[in-house]
This record gives sequence, structure tokens and C-alpha cells, in this order.
Amino acid sequence: MWTTEDSIELYGIEKWGNGYFSVNDNGNIIILPKKSPEQSVDIMDLIEEMEKSRDLEFPVLLRFPQILEDRIDEITGAFMGAIEEFDYSGTYQPIFPMKVNQRKEVIEYIIKFGAKHNIGMEVGTKAELLAALSLGLPRDAPLICNGYKDEDYLRLALSVHNLNNIIIVVDLFEEIYDILKYADAMGVVPRVGMRVKLFARGSGRWVESGGESAKFGLSTSEALELLRILDERGLKGCLKMLHFHIGSQITDIRTVKNAMNEAARIYAKVRKICDIKYLNVGGGLSVDYNGSNTATPSSANYSLQEYANDVVYTVQKICDDEEVPYPTIVSESGRAIAAYHSLLIFKIIGRKNAKSSPLHPPDDEAPIQIDDLC
Ligand SMILES: *Cc1c(COP(=O)(O)O)cnc(C)c1O
Repeated sequence: MWTTEDSIELYGIEKWGNGYFSVNDNGNIIILPKKSPEQSVDIMDLIEEMEKSRDLEFPVLLRFPQILEDRIDEITGAFMGAIEEFDYSGTYQPIFPMKVNQRKEVIEYIIKFGAKHNIGMEVGTKAELLAALSLGLPRDAPLICNGYKDEDYLRLALSVHNLNNIIIVVDLFEEIYDILKYADAMGVVPRVGMRVKLFARGSGRWVESGGESAKFGLSTSEALELLRILDERGLKGCLKMLHFHIGSQITDIRTVKNAMNEAARIYAKVRKICDIKYLNVGGGLSVDYNGSNTATPSSANYSLQEYANDVVYTVQKICDDEEVPYPTIVSESGRAIAAYHSLLIFKIIGRKNAKSSPLHPPDDEAPIQIDDLC
């Protein structure tokens, strides 16, 4: 007889479900938003309720805000665990990159649940900046401004600079001139970050986000030139953050290690010139969608804890080597926070069964070749 265990096995649900999804004794999918068996929802019960409701029509997107909270707690916990284990004397700062999910309710939950970890936001447009400001991000939580920066976007970021913890990231070299120009005109001393291009790159769909030819980020010579410009104007203290992002869904832990080695080395060199506080390792933390625990595109060959350990360990090792103080480690995991929390339910409007084909097995008299073909 087909059992619950058979279903769990067939669908690999415990391999990719990260403890949030399982199957109950009735054979139905259940959600465990807090990973605790005492708090679970049978999806079929929910569907029956929704069928009765006259206000709801399928498809329906269900959200489990508790899962967002659990993800933020887990990711922060993994970094804090690594920091404790290695006796790293710096700390960790979580950031949610807003482009990953811009829904008002999602951002509100992230701000609410992330408050205990002082979670910040990364924004890539003026619209996202306005949204982050209006949705109640605490004033001391970092608000990192990336993306193409026109005059409007820069003026907005600078106008709230003294009220909010804004860091404007230079991801195209020329931007520094505009940032300094408008900051000067508005009488603001800006907090600036710089995005660097690494040689290390991710793989799969987002491979173009990394490597020497990446769209965003400064080359080594541009980074040096940026430091020179700031120094020349007596603004070296403005540089607060070194940032890189080599792409999303990095499936191979070796890529993470290579990028970390390179970035930590750059941090250390820059730290000798100016008192930079944050090392921002960007996003890329994978979600193992198919549960295979491999370096294939929909998976990852590492766990969250291994990721955090490698980041913290590498930064520490290189800082010790170069004899510079440890940075606050910032990460911008987007999909790793958001991916598990929503579930789309839709009606099956038809079905096609590959097994019910009109092909009939050849009878006993048929030539052996026909039998083989079948
Ligand atoms: C898209 C993006 C992220 C999020 O990447 P994930 O792989 O979803 O974690 C983080 N930082 C920057 C700068 C991005 O552009």
C-alpha cells in the first residue's frame, strides 16, 4: 500500500522543504511555518475553506510571514554562530535586497521581523528608496542605495541622509562626481560605498553579474582613483563600505570561497588607507530548490552554516594576515529570505496521462524487433 513515507520520498519534500513542508498521516501537504509540529497547517483544509469563500478565486497565492521571520533568524543566527565559533571580533549586519520582493506586505513583515537584528534594505531605484522610507524602516537601519543614480535619486538619498543611515554605493565610476557635487550643494557629508568587480564569478543564469566584464562595479584602477579623489578633497572618511555581488544562486561553495578571498584581500588593502567599516558580500546564497544538494543550477552543494562559516573564516584569516581590524560583515541574501514563504495554489484544468497511450503491446507472434521497439 502507498504510504505517507512513500510520498515524502517520491517528492523529496524533506530534501528541499527545509523543515517548512511535509506530508501528514492523511497524505496531505502540510506547512510548518515555524518548523514545529505543534504549529502546522493542512493545505487541503485551507483549500476547502477557500472553496467555501465567495471572495476568493483560484489561483491563490498564500504567504506565511512566519517563514520570513524564521529565515531572517536562521541566516542571522548562522552568521552569529560562525562569529562566536571563530571568535571573530566584528559583527554581522543583515540586509534585504528590495528587488527580490517589492510587495508592500512582504517588505513590512521583513522590517517588522528583522527589527531585532536591525535589518536594513538595499534599494536599486528611486522608487524602491521611496518605498523603503515610507514603510517604516528604522532610521538607524542601513539603507544601501545601488543602481543607476540620476539627479532625482541622488538628491532624494542626500536629502534624508542625516535622518537615515543611507550609504550610497558607487557602482559606476563616474557617479562619484555627481554624488560629491550634489552633496556639496546640499551641505551633506555623504556616506559612500564602492562596488568592486571581482575576477571570481558565479555560474549558471547569473554568470554575467560577476567577472571582469560585469556591468556594475569598479575595476582595481578605478577603485584606486576613487580613493585618490576622496583623499584629495579631504573626504576619505566618507568611504564606509566595500561591496561586491557576483550573481544570484551561487551553487558551488568553491565560488563563494574564491570571491571571499579576493574581496577580503581588497578590503584589507583599502582598510590600510581609510577607516572603512563594512564589508558587504552581496547576495548569492543559494536555495536548494530540488533538494539534490549538488552544484547544479537549481540546487547548492553547501548549507547555510557552511556559507556563513566560509565568509567569516575567510575575512578573519585575511585580516589577521594583513593585520587590519575586522569589518562588520554585511550580506544581502534575497532569495534565501523570500523563497520559501509563499505558495501558489491553482486549479488543475485538465490532465494528460503519458501512460494512457494508444500503444498496445505486441502479441506473442510479433517479430522480436517489434517487441524490442515497444
Ligand atoms: C539581486 C541582488 C541581491 C540578491 O541576490 P540573491 O541571490 O537573491 O540573494 C543582493 N545584492 C544585490 C546588489 C543584488 O543586485
